Amino acid sequence: MGRIIQPKQLYTYDILCEDCNRLMERYPSLISTETIGYSVGERKIIAIKLGNGEDKIFISGAHHAREWLTTALLMDIIETYARVAVNTSNVEANRIKSILDECTFLFVPMVNPDGVTLVQKGEHDFEQKDLLIKWNNGSDDFSAWKANIRGVDLNRQYPADWETIQFDPGVQSCENFKGFSFLSEPESLAIFHFVQSQSIKIAAAYHSSGEEIFWKYKSENELEKWSKKIAMELADLTGYQLIYPGENPSGGGLTDWFISYYKRPSFTIEIAPYVGPNPVPLTYYDSIYIKNKNVPLLLAENRNP
Ligand SMILES: [Zn+2]
Repeated sequence: MGRIIQPKQLYTYDILCEDCNRLMERYPSLISTETIGYSVGERKIIAIKLGNGEDKIFISGAHHAREWLTTALLMDIIETYARVAVNTSNVEANRIKSILDECTFLFVPMVNPDGVTLVQKGEHDFEQKDLLIKWNNGSDDFSAWKANIRGVDLNRQYPADWETIQFDPGVQSCENFKGFSFLSEPESLAIFHFVQSQSIKIAAAYHSSGEEIFWKYKSENELEKWSKKIAMELADLTGYQLIYPGENPSGGGLTDWFISYYKRPSFTIEIAPYVGPNPVPLTYYDSIYIKNKNVPLLLAENRNP
């Protein structure tokens, strides 16, 4: 059987929904899905569970609208693990099978389905067209949009030093507006409640671009050591650069909140060379996939200190 996931295309919300159903049908013993909330535009926020183990690993993609290639990447990795675990027997398959026995990966590949749809299809599907153009600095080219459909940056919504987030425009915008209160948006709130409902060992949030890994936030002592060890392994695997934050890192990100609230490792992984405020070109995909396909396995293997 051919592969279900075709990542090198304009990977839309509709394709995501259909692919989730097809993956569940083909791999019922390993894959299930759950709708953990709805976006402002009433699109589903879908969590995909892969594996049958006790230990939970949480991985999200596409908080930022223009970064939708992270959705395609995560879907491709999910299919690869299921396919190898079910169909293959070799060293790689044994590694994956043993991890899927002990762990369950919780993937939310598209946190911001409205924003992704705006970037990919323009404003036509949305009611508040004039406002969207205003928040997009007067332009009807939405290819650089990062926020959700209410002009709030979903990765500046989490309760980790939210009050003191830097470079906040103070009003709705295509990027960087932290919202009028933390967790004001249904998408970030859905992630927050879902994470709180699970006992998660380790987390990663996929973004593009910059080929960078944020790993520290304000962690100290044993947590900093543990996080740094994993971060260095991730850097070895991907070739991405580790980012050392300054004295007062700006908060509000999912990774910032997870590290400071749970005192466990979490990583923000930026997948592609810096391409300016644009979606990552599909021509980068193959090398991104090769660099990242073992990242979830590495996280799982480091889920305990
Ligand atoms: Zn991002």
